Amino acid sequence: MRVRFWGTRGSLPVAPHADAVLAKVARALMIARGRSFADQDEATAFAREETEFATHATYGGATACMEIEADEEAFVVCDMGSGMREFGVNALRRCAEGHPRLYHVFLSHPNFDHVMGFPFFRPAYETGARIVIHSGHPDAEAALRRQQEAICFPVPFETLRAKIEFVTHPPDQPFEAAGLTVSLIRQAHATRGSYGYRFERDGKAVVYSTDAEHGAEDMDAEGAFETFFAGADLVICDTMYSLGDAVSLKQDTGHASNVVAVDLCHAAGAKRLALFHHEPNGSDEDIQRMFYETLRYEELVRGERPPLEVLCAYDGLEVEV
Ligand SMILES: [Zn+2]
Repeated sequence: MRVRFWGTRGSLPVAPHADAVLAKVARALMIARGRSFADQDEATAFAREETEFATHATYGGATACMEIEADEEAFVVCDMGSGMREFGVNALRRCAEGHPRLYHVFLSHPNFDHVMGFPFFRPAYETGARIVIHSGHPDAEAALRRQQEAICFPVPFETLRAKIEFVTHPPDQPFEAAGLTVSLIRQAHATRGSYGYRFERDGKAVVYSTDAEHGAEDMDAEGAFETFFAGADLVICDTMYSLGDAVSLKQDTGHASNVVAVDLCHAAGAKRLALFHHEPNGSDEDIQRMFYETLRYEELVRGERPPLEVLCAYDGLEVEV
């Protein structure tokens, strides 16, 4: 399986201002002081290897959308945040080369940042495309229709030309889709909850768990998550806040922390963790700092366990599982 991140930001799409990009260029020039480069490739290699990620790149600003390439018969996508726009453009290119126009979409919950990309998803406007939207929420269809009502959007949902189907799944009842065995877990998030997904194929497992609050006092719920994450090759986890934020300032906002994510992955024997759903107020430097802190924390609490590899997801990241 190959996992591709099209949108990794939480809550609201963001883009860096001109000043932020200028500061990155200036920092890179300072680091390169005295160096000269024969060509662009050499300069690119220097920037990638000798400067930090927050200097030579950006985590990106599109909201939640992640693709799992597992089966040549269908596209598999988690969430429909603003990253779905770019995924749609890319998918049409692949369809032109012969990829079937079947899309399985798995929705964590119908909050705006997780559905806002759908009206800009070009395959939805294509006759002959089939889009199956899997959700734990029975009113996912109502949410998608509502955001395209005339008061909010110029193109009504009814005029989309693709065949769009909605399937509601109860948690803890695995099903098959796109060559994957899929199971859901209900997660605490605001008043209406959200759903995490576990995808399995050929002995490999990917878990997508975003917009989930983990209360330290609810040990039963944490046990259920340890089982859900068990032995996963990759866990994509909402780490919008640091633990300090999650237990004080941001309590009850429905999000996890980097510390909770590491603890759960350790307890579950997961192999890799991708930090996801980054705080929209966070600069690239802020997110990178949180990433470094997470690496240090993982090392500190690892004990006798094998190392948990921690990645910090960014728009455009691809991970082979
Ligand atoms: Zn969200």
